[in-house]
Amino acid sequence: MATDYYGLLGLTRGASDTDIKKAYRRLARDLHPDVNPDPGAKERFQEVSRAYQALTDPEKRRIVDLGGDPFDSGSGASAGGFGGAGFGGLGDIMDAFFGGGAATRGPRSRVRAGGDALIRLDLDLDETVFGTTKDITVDTAVLCDACTGAGTAPGTHPTTCVTCSGRGEVQSVQRSFLGQVVATRPCPTCAGTGQVIPEPCPKCGGDGRVRARRTIPVKVPAGVEDGMRIRLTGHGEVGPGGGPAGDLYVEIAERPHDVFTRDGEDLHCRVTLPMTAAALGTTLTLDTLDGQEEIDIRPGTQSGSVLTLRAKGAPRLRATGRGNLMVHVEVETPTRLDAEQEKLLRELAALRGEDRPAAAGTDGHGGLFSRLFK
Ligand SMILES: [Zn+2]
Ligand SMILES: [Zn+2]
Repeated sequence: MATDYYGLLGLTRGASDTDIKKAYRRLARDLHPDVNPDPGAKERFQEVSRAYQALTDPEKRRIVDLGGDPFDSGSGASAGGFGGAGFGGLGDIMDAFFGGGAATRGPRSRVRAGGDALIRLDLDLDETVFGTTKDITVDTAVLCDACTGAGTAPGTHPTTCVTCSGRGEVQSVQRSFLGQVVATRPCPTCAGTGQVIPEPCPKCGGDGRVRARRTIPVKVPAGVEDGMRIRLTGHGEVGPGGGPAGDLYVEIAERPHDVFTRDGEDLHCRVTLPMTAAALGTTLTLDTLDGQEEIDIRPGTQSGSVLTLRAKGAPRLRATGRGNLMVHVEVETPTRLDAEQEKLLRELAALRGEDRPAAAGTDGHGGLFSRLFK
């Protein structure tokens, strides 16, 4: 049974050339393999492209209108291998050998999907922790408003490429292990589209898109981390021929903070205490991201101990709650003592029986080191 080429394009017999082109253009935008990754779409695109070829070539269309199939070159020949196959048939065989492809068959669409874009956004720690909204300026390709992507000057239309007669591909003879064979490649004149634009749009030069600078507000959720990317769908570059825009990725770059370092949802900071304060205990006031916090330093606090302020860290991005703020305590040993201070410390040492100290070994049991110092 002959293929319903009109039906494939959603048209009926007697459709005008303009209707056929419009229908094909619309379908190709949705189905082109560069735009639509669905394998079913690729097959549909090939069918639609074939229908377009059949209906835009007057000779082929005459065959269609007579109820025949212009691509059916005498029944049996296509299934029977070499017999009766013309150059096109041999090309198909080469495609089967070299994996060339069905994808290159027929003119490809001028319209292709746009690329993704990446932009870096520098943020301070309080912005990544609490979230913010920032305006970013991006320089990308946008749809040409003069031709709305068609690439043609006002009042003009694309014409069929004379190099490939609108097929979008050219054939050349090559030598291979099968002998002389015909290889098919995209037409260099029209880049495989089968059409050329005789009078390009003066604004975009025929590309269907122009570069423009835009400002977009970006909502940064609370708890993002350095290196994370926020995706803004459809804010990337518009594709050639006005194809669908790619996505814009905003990569977070967190500026180092003077006081806090970040480890995921936890924040860390270091406080230095005089030896006396560590021994006697004290209260510290610390400027956290949430404002001032009183920290209670218990008497006898050791250097290297860590105080945890619960839920004063960064929010968890995909859960509730917040991480902790870890305060690392460092006890400072005085380096310059005047005579009176030294005297007091010596008295203290004597009182504590530490004037001839036995340093504890790292195993905590007074091992090797204590013996060395005696
Ligand atoms: Zn334009
Ligand atoms: Zn061409």
